[in-house]
Amino acid sequence: MIQPCEIAQLGAKVLRQHAEIVDKLDSPVIRQIINEMQTTLAATQGVGLAAPQISQLKRIIIVASRPNIRYPKAPLMTPTVMINPIFEALSGEKEKDWEGCLSIPGIRALVPRYKAIKVQYVDENGNPVEKILEDFVARVFQHETDHLEGKVYLDRVESPIDIISESEYLKLFGHCEDSL
Ligand SMILES: [Zn+2]
Repeated sequence: MIQPCEIAQLGAKVLRQHAEIVDKLDSPVIRQIINEMQTTLAATQGVGLAAPQISQLKRIIIVASRPNIRYPKAPLMTPTVMINPIFEALSGEKEKDWEGCLSIPGIRALVPRYKAIKVQYVDENGNPVEKILEDFVARVFQHETDHLEGKVYLDRVESPIDIISESEYLKLFGHCEDSL
């Protein structure tokens, strides 16, 4: 039985390092990391997780969008493992919206992200996938791939005024189910 891992918190060096490409998809080590990520994310209210958040510098993310107050039309998806994910913006259009992060509890901020992106990754069965993601799912994907570059969402905030405490965020939106 796999136990949830401790989630690295802001200040941990591992959150500021580049993650490595996964070249052996069928290795037991990679399978173990994926299992630990799935178990860890399931134990939280998060909608995404990147391997560096459980102190593994591998290019693996999980995206687990579900509808929420700000994005009622966000798809409810089975948590999806994405290995070696990359993306390109479909247009330069960015949108600012709120993000939180399991590695930065207690804080929310407005973050500009591309609205629509074309993504490529390898799924957990080793199949290459290419698809277009929009809005909330595109936001989660960009947040998680930033973690693979040693970036956190606060690095992308345009002004300190866009950072608020989670308690104030809850007064605005009354929920906290969307940490990434
Ligand atoms: Zn995060």
